[in-house]
Amino acid sequence: MKLLITGLAGFIGHAVAKRLSGRGHEIVGIDNLNAYYSVALKRARLADLAECADVHFVERDLADREGMAVLFAEHRFDCVIHLAAQAGVRYSLQNPHVYADSNLVGHLNVMEGCRHYGVEHLVYASSSSVYGMNDKVPFGTSDVVDHPVSLYAATKKAGELMAHTYAHLYGLPTTGLRFFTVYGPWGRPDMAPFKFTKALLEGKPIQVFNHGDMQRDFTYIDDIVEGVVRILEVVPQAGGTSERPDSSTAPFALYNIGHGSPVALMDFIRAVEKATGREAQCDFLPMQPGDVQRTWADTEALYAATGYRPKVGVEEGVQRFVDWYRAYYWI
Ligand code: NAD
Repeated sequence: MKLLITGLAGFIGHAVAKRLSGRGHEIVGIDNLNAYYSVALKRARLADLAECADVHFVERDLADREGMAVLFAEHRFDCVIHLAAQAGVRYSLQNPHVYADSNLVGHLNVMEGCRHYGVEHLVYASSSSVYGMNDKVPFGTSDVVDHPVSLYAATKKAGELMAHTYAHLYGLPTTGLRFFTVYGPWGRPDMAPFKFTKALLEGKPIQVFNHGDMQRDFTYIDDIVEGVVRILEVVPQAGGTSERPDSSTAPFALYNIGHGSPVALMDFIRAVEKATGREAQCDFLPMQPGDVQRTWADTEALYAATGYRPKVGVEEGVQRFVDWYRAYYWI
């Protein structure tokens, strides 16, 4: 297959490309290498992909309408794995327009390319954040969720709605993947697992929001990658999995990819303490605007479609992350 991966230099894009390389595909990856977090880390991920002769990097911004049209016209992709986005809940409070540019306009440009150049399957990243403050657990893709509590979540929900429209109007098969708090080697410096590890190894305090009263369905990167790769083969048919399966005749599907078991934040911190051999100094702070108290994925739909359930538990996953961190930063 000829594949496009957007967000190639990102945490998940890099890992998906690495996994798909060497399997007979031709892979083009794009990224705008923005400075939301360390550009050096993004470049290091690209350097790590240099050994993959079947992966070609093109620097491109999703929001560049003409540039995206040229890319699709040149390459005639069979499938697209669309992972590039402006991520992060807290950053969206201060920088709302970046989210509109990348997650709305950029998402539209990807869908337009898919529509005009006959892409067979668009798989795109959504997020557990679309569930908002949801009391009904575990979170299931057949529940209607339309109360996002951050602009990031709103743009991710909008991405799903836009994908449904393109599936309905143009028959473009689209699959949205709601990822749950992803961590692991090459992880994002703006996320808690990275920040906690760094602070503990440097002997600095960590910020613990909502006074530690939070739960996250932490999901190890290899489990996310396995889910993405398997879902790529499951092209949705008309009337497929959706929030309201009966009312939709579009080839549209949504899946959660999460471990399926929420972990208390303080237990996660204990796992980081164990893996680093250091004690955490916690600054307990109130809940941050836009944050949610708990996430918890229902993984039944993913299992039914792919036969796969995420496997790696927090103790093992955190140990692997800390081992990577120490090797990467020479600590
Ligand atoms: P990331 O920030 O590491 O990767 C995204 C990549 O996209 C970055 O390299 C960035 O430079 C690139 N990018 C951003 N805007 C762009 C634009 N306009 N044009 C071109 N490239 C652009 O994030 P990630 O953790 O790898 O996340 C991948 C996807 O998964 C995102 O869509 C994110 O919203 C979603 N997601 C991630 C998590 C998580 O816990 N990591 C959870 C839920 C959803």
